[in-house]
Amino acid sequence: MKTKVTLYWFRRDLRLCDNVALNAALNSPYPVLPIFIFDDTILNQLDDKKDRRVDYIHQALQAINQQLADNQTTLCTYKGIPIHIFKQLNAAYDIQAVYCNRDYEPQAIKRDTAIYDYFQSIGISFKAFKDQVIFDKSDILKADGTPYTVYTPYSHKWKELLRQKPYAGSQTNSHSFANFLKLTSLPIISLEALGFVKTAIRYSQPSLNEKLIADYHQHRDYPAKNATSRLGIAIRFGTISIRQCVKFAQQHNQTWLSELIWREFFMQILYHFPQVATQSFKPKYDLISWRNDVADFEKWCKGQTGYPLVDAGIRELNQTGFMHNRVRMVVASFLCKHLLIDWRWGEAYFASKLDDYDLAANNGNWQWVAGSGCDATPYFRVFNPQLQTDKFDKNQLYIKKWVPELDTPQYPPPMVDHAYARERALNSYRQALGSA
Ligand SMILES: Cc1cc2nc3c(=O)[nH]c(=O)nc-3n(C[C@H](O)[C@H](O)[C@H](O)COP(=O)(O)OP(=O)(O)OC[C@H]3O[C@@H](n4cnc5c(N)ncnc54)[C@H](O)[C@@H]3O)c2cc1C
Repeated sequence: MKTKVTLYWFRRDLRLCDNVALNAALNSPYPVLPIFIFDDTILNQLDDKKDRRVDYIHQALQAINQQLADNQTTLCTYKGIPIHIFKQLNAAYDIQAVYCNRDYEPQAIKRDTAIYDYFQSIGISFKAFKDQVIFDKSDILKADGTPYTVYTPYSHKWKELLRQKPYAGSQTNSHSFANFLKLTSLPIISLEALGFVKTAIRYSQPSLNEKLIADYHQHRDYPAKNATSRLGIAIRFGTISIRQCVKFAQQHNQTWLSELIWREFFMQILYHFPQVATQSFKPKYDLISWRNDVADFEKWCKGQTGYPLVDAGIRELNQTGFMHNRVRMVVASFLCKHLLIDWRWGEAYFASKLDDYDLAANNGNWQWVAGSGCDATPYFRVFNPQLQTDKFDKNQLYIKKWVPELDTPQYPPPMVDHAYARERALNSYRQALGSA
């Protein structure tokens, strides 16, 4: 006879604590079999097999598995196409229900809909919960029932709702390990078997730094200071709970809270306007005649533009998988405006390199910089890398860290003149937008 189980499917929620769907699964009447699927559809899109994100996920799963092993149970990992894996699991177990937390990316919604339909067709319920955001879907709409496309009123509504319904739908996880299926511990599929190799990234249990968050608003714009949380990857893969972050932000820093709200703002934009994944939010911006010069793009990707702040940012990204937010804005603006290269090229480059890469945040911010997004910076705002340096890296501490050859003949001259490039960008934008 097959064992009756509740399946718990880990995705962007790689933790045992304060996990809404896991908590619900553990309160269901059947023992919980926790699983993770390395999805071939996603893995096959990663050209570089030395991918830090895959390694991070792998290490986070090992940490979960250790906790489970200490409690006489295990995580089961699989590699393949999720629906095929579920069909195999259905042959092996008497599945009573499948639990997971919601994912809002267009591809994930498509995948989950097909899996929901499959389970529905065989009489098994597939239950998805809100976990990676405080508010999702249509929790926050304008009075006329349409989604917000401007951040400030959205954030006011977000805060108002949080006051009314604190952490709707979530609870601190009070599960007992006894509710997991008793199994001998199994190893996580190896990175090699997944077709990937070890990187320099190291997973550790994420934590919130009170002093750093309390001072966040004063120092966050200075890339030489280590003054931002660096929790991007943990929030992205759910190794920390967003409710824990939001509670901490409420207690310690409103500016940091605003950043967490920007994250949800872009997530709801992607959810309600999935076309932004490939198109400009403002369609006119797709009429811009980008230069798309491949040689220029390569210089940008290598950090050889001759603009020190831009080069420092790209080199930081290439070497570490992180780039400071202020520098991300300057680097992105340089690509779209100074080089007149389609923001989608830059977006794809960031997607391949950023440890904290997240479709909604990356797309939302690139479109914000390019001017094509909702509530974006006005198109005529062209970041001046020199002025940004004077303001935020006056002593060039950040620049010199990443561009040590700065004052030597090895460092290239600026690849394009700032005033000329600015004018060229404004002309192209005006032409496309019809306000020349
Ligand atoms: C061109 C460009 C691309 C970006 N791509 C990404 C991306 O792929 N993934 C990503 O998480 N952030 C992205 N950001 C936003 C921001 O730069 C990073 O979230 C931040 O630098 C991460 O560092 P931190 O973890 O120390 O963040 P902190 O400054 O400590 O902020 C805390 C958290 O708030 C969220 N957050 C902060 N700023 C933003 C923002 N502007 N938009 C959305 N969420 C935000 C993130 O989850 C971040 O980890 C991008 C910004 C730009 C300008």
